[in-house]
Amino acid sequence: MLTTLTLASLQEETMHTLIAITFRICFQFGLFVLAFPLLAHASLPQSSNVPGGVAIIPLGSVSTSADTPQTWFGDQPVLVTSDHNQWYAVVGLSLDVTPGSHELRVKIGDVTKALDFVVNTKNYPEQHITLEDTSKVELSAEDEARADRELAVIQELKHHWRAAQDTDLTFILPVKGRLAGRFGLRRFFNGEPRAPHAGLDVAVARGTPVKASAHGQVLAVDDYFFNGRTIFVDHGNGLITMYCHLERIDVKTGETVRKGQRIGLSGKTGRATGPHLHWSVVLNGAMVDPELFIPAKHRRR
Ligand SMILES: [Zn+2]
Repeated sequence: MLTTLTLASLQEETMHTLIAITFRICFQFGLFVLAFPLLAHASLPQSSNVPGGVAIIPLGSVSTSADTPQTWFGDQPVLVTSDHNQWYAVVGLSLDVTPGSHELRVKIGDVTKALDFVVNTKNYPEQHITLEDTSKVELSAEDEARADRELAVIQELKHHWRAAQDTDLTFILPVKGRLAGRFGLRRFFNGEPRAPHAGLDVAVARGTPVKASAHGQVLAVDDYFFNGRTIFVDHGNGLITMYCHLERIDVKTGETVRKGQRIGLSGKTGRATGPHLHWSVVLNGAMVDPELFIPAKHRRR
């Protein structure tokens, strides 16, 4: 009986193993065949044709046009990359882009054409905050003037364009921690709408090392009224990351940083209720969802 059972269970185990192996082969093969177009996007961000998302628009085969196509969304040049022998435009869509049909201007060789693409609607969650002390949201004339000046500087930095041979579109999270404030949250203070949350908040203790999410050049470092001590890293071709509320900045403007390099320490400088890293990703001047650039397996929920 025991022998039979053992044999039976052995056979069963063997069967399981065989099934598992067969399944794995089928799965891998099936995955390869079915998901080949997905695999071809391995180094591209996740596409999301919504305000605050990223549209990935195929531009044709690399072999038919050796020169990198040039693209524009409005007046802003747009990042073009190649992946598995295909050219793609990677278009940042700002939170205030109107859902509907939009046009990407494409120049390949001497030919300029317009490519239509659709932006869908997305209803980001609302966050209602009740503040007893309104002095924290109502600025003095002096603070307001400072914030306005800085906003203009930040706008300029966001639209910076540096042509680069190669832009790494696969980011690492600059810090590990709880995702405390997601991108796109529609914020209301005492019932009044405020600017939506154009970045990702990661809750970390003060003094946590903050890493560059990909290689790049430090575009600017400054201490702003709202964002506190901030670093802008330019990854080339209109892709820029922004690290805010830092306690300490360890890099200088113009310096080259590598992916994973410590660039500063987290804090709560500027207008922050507690220590956290506010991390923003800018693409062709648009603030987009940073999580689209984090490979799925590295995402923390
Ligand atoms: Zn934030």
